[in-house]
Amino acid sequence: MVIETFDPKETYDLGVKMGEQARAGQVICLNGDLGVGKTVFTQGFAAGLGIAGPVNSPTFTIVQQYEDGRLPLYHFDVYRIGDISEMEIGYEDCFYGQGVTLIEWSELIREILPEHVTEVTIEKDMEKGFDYRRIRVEEKE
Ligand code: ADP
Ligand code: MG
Repeated sequence: MVIETFDPKETYDLGVKMGEQARAGQVICLNGDLGVGKTVFTQGFAAGLGIAGPVNSPTFTIVQQYEDGRLPLYHFDVYRIGDISEMEIGYEDCFYGQGVTLIEWSELIREILPEHVTEVTIEKDMEKGFDYRRIRVEEKE
C-alpha cells in the first residue's frame, strides 16, 4: 500500500488510523531519512491507541514505554545506536510481548528484528513540494 501525504497532519492521521487498527504483538519498522516524519507518524499512532501524553523521540534512552493506551506502546529510536550490543536490555520482551512496538531507524538493527513486521518507509520528493511524503506500508513475512 502506498499513501501520499501533502502535510504533517495527513501523516499523523495515517498514524492514527494504524494505531486504531494495531494488534497485540505487532512490530512496526519505520524507515526514512532524518526529518521525514517518522516521529510525526508515531505521534499519530500513539493517539490512535488512545495514549494521552506527549510522544517524542526518546532522548536519553533507546526506548520509551507508554501504558495508558488500548495496548502498551514501546517506542524505539535506534538512530544513535553504534552497535547491536548497545541495544536495550530486554528488547525481546517488547518485540515478542503483548504490546505494540514502533522502531524508528529499524534498518540499523536489522539482524535482531522479528520475522513478521509491518514496514513503513517514508520518502520525500522535492519535485512534488517540500511537504510531500510518499509512505509505503508493507507486511513482511
Ligand atoms: P523523523 O522522526 O523522521 O526524523 P520528524 O517526524 O521528527 O522526522 O519530523 C518531520 C518534519 O517534517 C516535521 O517538522 C514535520 O512538520 C515536517 N513535515 C512536512 N511535511 C510533512 C508530511 N507530509 N508528513 C510528515 N511530516 C512532514
Ligand atoms: Mg524521529
